[in-house]
Amino acid sequence: MSNKRKFYIVSTPIGNLEDITYRAIRILSEVDIILCEDTRVTGKLLSNYNISAKLESYNAHASQHKENKIIDNVKSGVVYALVSDAGTPTISDPGVKIIQSLYKELGNDIDIVSIPGATALITALSSSGFIGNQFTFYGFLPHKKGRNKIFKEIFNSDRISIFYESPHRIIKTLKYLCDNYHDSNRNIYIARELTKLYEEKVIGNIDYIFNYFDNNKDKVRGEFVVVIDKNNK
Ligand code: SAM
Repeated sequence: MSNKRKFYIVSTPIGNLEDITYRAIRILSEVDIILCEDTRVTGKLLSNYNISAKLESYNAHASQHKENKIIDNVKSGVVYALVSDAGTPTISDPGVKIIQSLYKELGNDIDIVSIPGATALITALSSSGFIGNQFTFYGFLPHKKGRNKIFKEIFNSDRISIFYESPHRIIKTLKYLCDNYHDSNRNIYIARELTKLYEEKVIGNIDYIFNYFDNNKDKVRGEFVVVIDKNNK
């Protein structure tokens, strides 16, 4: 058995609180400190599972001082779990920086243990019906610079493309795709509010998808994953 220091990356639900593994619950109950983005969000999850744990906030703006403290604690034997508000930490969420710092400081004496679980991109891809052996995940697209270049890349690609989109931008994005890639035969799959009460999935060509959301403004809310199929011609 390894006597390396351990640091856990724990996936939590993306909506439905039942979507968490037994192992994740056990680890969250056993660690000394849980690092989380928002103590209220994680507090709700923990209270649902009767876990009383010490929560500390950790986000993309964490100071160097905070990181150093975490590293010193890990060296002296404190066991941490890192969670994000939803899904898998480090996937369009904070966490990479502390992992890099731990590897830098401890090399192979640190064991970063990822407890697998929900992530929105895989949840969406797996129900799309697209043959998903090869795909590119873009996370959140840049708001301005480089955005249209990425769309060009997506529509030239022979892979499935997946990105995260906010409800404030989804119509604008779909309109842009409609205006510029109208002739494409690619199917688009939009997965909204996955695992939640108002979960909805819509599949169709670009025109159909744009018109669907443009005509149903009440559906332009919540969280979105956009999956664009490869060119099937
Ligand atoms: N770490 C998360 C994961 O593993 O998927 C992603 C966090 S990122 C800050 C949040 C974005 O993920 C949302 O804006 C949305 O695009 C996507 N997302 C998260 N939960 C979702 C859900 N239940 N349904 C659809 N999209 C979701």
